[in-house]
Amino acid sequence: MKRLILVRYGEIILKGMNRPVFENMLVKNIRKALEDECPLKIHWAQATIYIEPEDDSCVESIVEKLKKVFGIVSIVVAYQGKKDIDDLTNIITENFSKELKGASTFKVVAKRSDKKFHMQSPEICQEVGGRILEKFPNLTVDVKNPEVNVYVEIREEGYVHLDRINGAGGMPSGSNGKAMLLLSGGIDSPVAGYMIGKRGVCLEAIHFFSYPYTSDRAKDKVLKLASILKGYTGTLKVHIVPFTDIQLQIRDKCPEEHLTLVMRRFMMEIAQRIAEKRGCYALVTGESIGQVASQTMAALCVTDDAVTMPVFRPLIGMDKEEIVEISRKIDTFETSILPYEDCCTVFTPRHPSTKPKKEKVILSQNLLDVERLIQEAVEGTETVDM
Ligand code: ATP
Ligand code: MG
Repeated sequence: MKRLILVRYGEIILKGMNRPVFENMLVKNIRKALEDECPLKIHWAQATIYIEPEDDSCVESIVEKLKKVFGIVSIVVAYQGKKDIDDLTNIITENFSKELKGASTFKVVAKRSDKKFHMQSPEICQEVGGRILEKFPNLTVDVKNPEVNVYVEIREEGYVHLDRINGAGGMPSGSNGKAMLLLSGGIDSPVAGYMIGKRGVCLEAIHFFSYPYTSDRAKDKVLKLASILKGYTGTLKVHIVPFTDIQLQIRDKCPEEHLTLVMRRFMMEIAQRIAEKRGCYALVTGESIGQVASQTMAALCVTDDAVTMPVFRPLIGMDKEEIVEISRKIDTFETSILPYEDCCTVFTPRHPSTKPKKEKVILSQNLLDVERLIQEAVEGTETVDM
């Protein structure tokens, strides 16, 4: 019996005249995500993308990959049959018998896109439902809260399937420009990248590396996080910026209470330079109001003031627990909690100011040769293509 995968998308349908552009982009991203799979055919009609693998044993691994493709709202594994109630009912009773035997309530949901089909949806439900009841005496119909939903769809062919699998949602990668993610090894910034990426934004990442104060293992951890993110965004370059010299100079020459904020202003300025060169529209960070001293409202204003590019902080209103929940879902959590230090934690002041005055922090930063330090860092940057 042939199985195929039906993919549905959501917001793209609202795009009016531009809809085909988004559809093409989604199909292109799906092809890329499945390029290592067995040979398959893809086509789309009526807001559904049909994926037909040549070899049925690939279905499960295809579904796993599709779960990461932004723009997909739901995925179903369907059996294709004739546009014939006898045929479709046989497929159901043969292939879904395990699920139907294990439940006590069910419902048939019929959808008839082919309006020429001789039965209307309520009739299809009644007919197919009746036959299922004959075969499985353990079942009763519950239209409000059934344990199993059996879907029958009459399109250009007939299809039957059980419940939908949730997709990642969002917009297809590449449909909304590019942004530069400031990627540390922590829990927050990979989640921030995921959230902006989900809206169709391509990402590149920048990481500030303070060797030997932070180790190669810390760098590997960041690259590992980047490779997990790439599973969602399709591509990802990581720019590794040498940051030791700047941090040492800040430590030696700036007042202790401003260490962190001067460092954060440097990070933003360097990130902006590289982002501009790489054609990005915005910077993305994992900051959230009040999480640490450098993320109070006053501190965020001082950081923001260092750049002219918009800075997107998708976690701004989230609690740590909510962020952790997403990081578990997207599979970055276990890597993020590996205990390698970040450059931010190496030179942490004992008493950071939580209500910094912008002018005073700028005065502290200007004790250094800011332009030269930024240029050297940009020139020393290495790029890793994930
Ligand atoms: P995270 O969990 O993302 O590390 P955090 O709560 O530890 O965040 P900070 O260390 O203050 O907070 O960093 C705030 C944000 O600054 C991070 O979310 C990230 O976007 C950026 N950032 C911090 N350290 C680095 C780094 N070494 N390289 C690149 N970006 C960084
Ligand atoms: Mg951090």
